Amino acid sequence: MLAGAVLVSSHAGAADRLLINGLVHTPDGVVRESILVRDGRIAALTAPGESKGAPPAGTEVVDLAGAHVLPGLTDAHLHLTGYGTSLEQVDLNGARSWDEVVERVIRFSSGRPSGEWVEGRGWDQNLWSDHAFPDRAALDRALAGRAVLLRRVDGHAAIASGKALKLAGIDRKTTDPPGGRIVRRSGGEPSGVLVDNAVDLVSRVVPKPGPAVIERRILAACDALARFGLTQIHDAGTTADQLAVLRSLDVAGKLPIRVYVLLDGSDPQLLDRELALPPGWGRQEMLRIGGVKLYADGALGSRGALLGADYSDDPGNRGLAVMSAEDLTAAVRRAAAARYQVAIHAIGDEAVHRALDAFAGLDPRRHIRLRHRIEHSQIVRPEDVARFAATQVIASIQPTHCTSDMPWAPERLGPKRIAWAYRWRSLLDAGAQLAGGSDAPVESPDPRLGLYAAETRRRPDGTPADGWNPGERLRPSEALALFTSGAAVAGHAERWSGAIGVGMAADLTVVDVDPEQVPPERLLQMKILRTVVAGRDVFVADAAGRTGGAR
Ligand SMILES: [Zn+2]
Repeated sequence: MLAGAVLVSSHAGAADRLLINGLVHTPDGVVRESILVRDGRIAALTAPGESKGAPPAGTEVVDLAGAHVLPGLTDAHLHLTGYGTSLEQVDLNGARSWDEVVERVIRFSSGRPSGEWVEGRGWDQNLWSDHAFPDRAALDRALAGRAVLLRRVDGHAAIASGKALKLAGIDRKTTDPPGGRIVRRSGGEPSGVLVDNAVDLVSRVVPKPGPAVIERRILAACDALARFGLTQIHDAGTTADQLAVLRSLDVAGKLPIRVYVLLDGSDPQLLDRELALPPGWGRQEMLRIGGVKLYADGALGSRGALLGADYSDDPGNRGLAVMSAEDLTAAVRRAAAARYQVAIHAIGDEAVHRALDAFAGLDPRRHIRLRHRIEHSQIVRPEDVARFAATQVIASIQPTHCTSDMPWAPERLGPKRIAWAYRWRSLLDAGAQLAGGSDAPVESPDPRLGLYAAETRRRPDGTPADGWNPGERLRPSEALALFTSGAAVAGHAERWSGAIGVGMAADLTVVDVDPEQVPPERLLQMKILRTVVAGRDVFVADAAGRTGGAR
């Protein structure tokens, strides 16, 4: 059975709820209706005056006062525990210089036990005047003896302090690991910067969080995501530890939003254990295990994305294949043979090409229904655009990556290949199924930012005025579909999720405006008024007017 074809259990026993005076976005348009919720599902939709008599005793009536009711928003690609962890780390997003990064780390570290690791995330040397990778010297001077690991905004590079390198046993004699690079000073001494697989050399010596810490981070993440109006997420690479916690939260009925798991495909023991079981639901209807996440390459910012020709700003470098084409194909075959959906991270055009090749080699009669997907699908050669539809592979995109990357992506790719980047309109027009996500904590999980970026290809500050490569913009309905029906298809959930209708799960996102009608700028101020999962409120804007999505 495919994961999530039907809801397997229900919230039977809870009192019925009647949500009245909503402007409900149904597949047939926006209609003023009431929504009757029973056992976690939509039991009826009724127009004003159509319902006969008062609701039965015991029914809770909620007046939505003319608010817009959207299908519950789903983020089709984020890192749940990573996002929860980022809420407990030094936030380096937007730092305008390496000095500012060091300054923020000093502030965060003061008062913390000196033996404790300090982790951070979000620096981006492309925002600095020299665009150069940093060197750990200033960090070591300011925080001598402290183990520090600071990840780049894309997570595909990091800088470690001297102490952290020492704990990891990295020195001038250490060779680069396969698929990774230890950046060195002119004398050969590691500068602290680690790219792709080299990051693991240090991250693996960071003391591992136990189940209690993982649970705290997952619940903090879910709470923050519910405030952004999200009712469901796809967890792109769930580790064994995280899966154990998710299962225990599911059994205890403590997961506030729905989680669709893409297993961490780099853990052979996890795959041995899980692939022996069919994909499907956890104990409750909040958790599903449906796919395996694999990596074909790294990221563009750190020049880890695998290109078919050299980086325009780094001759001789074509990026990194995290797995060889042969290993990738073997991993795809293994997961697909166990009836699991396969989600391949592929950013560079060569990585996307190899991922499509790996999927195209599968027997379509057996595998099309598994709905394999390419995460990011960022740089797609012209001849590969139509292959998404032909092989029925889902393009899982993150609109905010485009608007974050556009200042420097042209330098990496050059004038010809830049037209291949973030080509959502091309993919859609060629018949590809799209799904939308944020890749949090790489980007904010705020779906309003994703909708805005998808429609405008502008940054929240409004630049560039015409949008970046505006021919690839999506229409408002197409942008909303990324986070509703498209994400549902990508998660094998369209029979109960991604649209509002009788019999569907009562997963709803209540907002103050119609996101398909307002000018795109207005999306950034759209208020999240209420987030409903299986009929229950997981977030309600408070009476003081504070709404969800405060970043
Ligand atoms: Zn990701």
